[in-house]
Amino acid sequence: MTKQPQDQSLAHLHLLVSGASVAGPALALQLARRGARVTVVERAPALRPGGFAVDFRGHVHRKVLQDMGIWEEVHARQTHMGVQTLVDADGSPRIELPAAMMSGDVEIARGELAAIMYERTRDLPHVTYVFGDSVASLHETPTGVDVTFEKGAPDTFDLVVGADGLHSRTRALAFGDESRYLTYLGYCVAGFDVPNHLGLDRTARIHSDPGRMVGIGNADGVPSHAGATLVFSSPERLDFDRRDLAQQQKILTERFRGMGWEAPRVLEALGGLTSVDELYFDAIAQIHVDRLSVGRVVLVGDAGYGATMGGMGTGAAVVAAYVLAGELAAAGGDHRTAFAAYEAAFGDFAKGCQKIAGNAGPFLAPPTARKIRQRDLTYRMLSARPLAGFFKKLTEKAATDIVLRDYP
Ligand SMILES: Cc1cc2nc3c(=O)[nH]c(=O)nc-3n(C[C@H](O)[C@H](O)[C@H](O)COP(=O)(O)OP(=O)(O)OC[C@H]3O[C@@H](n4cnc5c(N)ncnc54)[C@H](O)[C@@H]3O)c2cc1C
Repeated sequence: MTKQPQDQSLAHLHLLVSGASVAGPALALQLARRGARVTVVERAPALRPGGFAVDFRGHVHRKVLQDMGIWEEVHARQTHMGVQTLVDADGSPRIELPAAMMSGDVEIARGELAAIMYERTRDLPHVTYVFGDSVASLHETPTGVDVTFEKGAPDTFDLVVGADGLHSRTRALAFGDESRYLTYLGYCVAGFDVPNHLGLDRTARIHSDPGRMVGIGNADGVPSHAGATLVFSSPERLDFDRRDLAQQQKILTERFRGMGWEAPRVLEALGGLTSVDELYFDAIAQIHVDRLSVGRVVLVGDAGYGATMGGMGTGAAVVAAYVLAGELAAAGGDHRTAFAAYEAAFGDFAKGCQKIAGNAGPFLAPPTARKIRQRDLTYRMLSARPLAGFFKKLTEKAATDIVLRDYP
């Protein structure tokens, strides 16, 4: 059969992308350069700052960042995180984890990465960012998707992309209730900025007691602030309103009450937060969907295959954006062909990244003192020079387990 030449420009398409963190702006960038008209709707009132350092590793991530034209800027704004130290309750060091083991080839704060992609796309004539709004309903017709918003006027789009994270509204509307797709892994994680009381400079300290972990790190060398990470085990999935700051502050305060080391000062900083957008608080969970698309609606990033922690969600999100936009271009905008090819090229890769992530909770906050000692022993072995290389290779294997096509 002779292959028909395709129209490779996407200028005839108007896409709605829900979510402006990593996956959304990455896709907007990839689509806009091919001429598509893109509207990105983000529920937060502005691009959300914060989030921890995320890293890229191996040739696949590098190729995608280079293709997007942001490789140099990611390097220019990278964190240079050094050694991370496990400490006792009195702050005395126990084990040092080398940077090579923890930080990939290049590490950058999530907010900085989102800002780079946002800055590259926000002034393009055919890209529009709408903040402070959310999709309210989706209705697919033979020619497009009729969308209503919580605040803005209804509109019709050719395609709708869910890049709105683990608790994706787009997925709930098009695929069905979250409970069908989300597997809770028994732990929760929170992150927010704190004053740099410890005077950290591109280092981090981590303290665990049974079922809880507090980490404080300064990744960018800016002396005034640091980032706190809290992880705790909770066999029951917590039910809370993600837009209710006070409720989340209360949960975290109760969970970390009585913990030693810097926990009291971290909780004090938590109490001082004034906007829910300054706090990242979520279940450690994974998303498993049968297919990444339904009709004209498709998922990228955590919305489709999220793993919360350790699953290289950021790397996977930029790779997904590359593949999805590329397949759309290769198919001349025909979404049926493109979505099927995206799924075939990307689905197994995403699953491989998720597998790596499964153990993040118990590893960071082991449930008993004995398990903490066992974990420390593992860390000690892994941080020895030859094994640090092995650990890096293991994660790099998942991060490179895809053959990327060169798209038009
Ligand atoms: C502020 C912040 C901090 C984070 N911190 C960490 C961290 O410390 N550790 C970690 O492992 N992961 C963290 N993440 C998640 C991490 O960014 C993702 O795992 C990964 O980068 C993939 O990104 P994503 O764009 O698919 O999803 P996400 O980064 O989760 O982004 C989803 C975006 O969609 C927006 N959104 C949600 N619902 C709607 C809606 N109904 N309508 C419109 N927009 C909506 C959100 O505000 C967010 O901007 C954080 C995410 C954010 C937004």
